[in-house]
Amino acid sequence: MRIGIDLGGTKIEGITLADGGAITHRHRVETPKSYDATIEAIAGVVRGLEEAAGERGTIGIGIPGTVVAATGLVKNSNSVCLNGQPLHRDLEARLGRPVRLMNDANCFALSEAADGAAAGAAIVFGVILGTGVGGGVVVEGKALIGANQISGEWGHNPLPWPSIEEIPGPPCYCGKRGCIETWLSGPGLVHDHAAVTGRELTTRAIVAAAAAGDADARATMARYHDRLARGLASVINIVDPDVVVLGGGMSNIAGLAEAASAGLPRWVFSNTVATRVVPNVHGDSSGVRGAAWLWPLGWRAA
Ligand SMILES: [Zn+2]
Repeated sequence: MRIGIDLGGTKIEGITLADGGAITHRHRVETPKSYDATIEAIAGVVRGLEEAAGERGTIGIGIPGTVVAATGLVKNSNSVCLNGQPLHRDLEARLGRPVRLMNDANCFALSEAADGAAAGAAIVFGVILGTGVGGGVVVEGKALIGANQISGEWGHNPLPWPSIEEIPGPPCYCGKRGCIETWLSGPGLVHDHAAVTGRELTTRAIVAAAAAGDADARATMARYHDRLARGLASVINIVDPDVVVLGGGMSNIAGLAEAASAGLPRWVFSNTVATRVVPNVHGDSSGVRGAAWLWPLGWRAA
């Protein structure tokens, strides 16, 4: 039996996954604020799942951030209590067995490559478009883990082929300006609409207004689609994925994959573009499913 756990900023969700990919049990708790309480909460989720299933499982965990191979310490986590902590070692000690940890964007990409929108594809770029922008690359069923454990993190590259109006771009929490995240995250869309129109609307309201024919909102969405196409094209020029899977809250925008796909030929360095851009299949469950798939697939020791 496989157990997958998604350690999120507000919730810790756990599932048991049957061999065929069916979710057989779920257990969810709020994420505590402290590191020690987070370890205990994860142990509690595992205990709850194993009691419900009546058997012991393998454990894969998707985390915000990544574990540095050289030190075993977490970095780049927006759940800041994890940063600098030996999460992997502490979880294995607490759970009494080997545990596999993986960045949550990589888990999303793994899930969609295993039995989702990119099932059977050799090279998959999984994209998170949400409050932040991230991503993961899966090659032949395994997450690509590089020297810095940041492969697929396109959100803090600059928006490619910027217009004069897009320079230098909005400031980003990472210290730079004009990062892809500042344009393609949910807050990025809100900011862009407000900057052009002077009206601060939610992402939902902008999308609804565009669907209702509002000219300003339609123009905002057209800029968003073009920027997404540019951002993806620069990744395609390097990684050349068979499939790009869109995830995160913004991926729920109707027609987003088609619009991004339609924009690619202008930017990709190829006279034809065979890469498919598709919405995800597993939705909010992708992260936790990908964590479960870390056993026995999906894993390469860093
Ligand atoms: Zn940035």
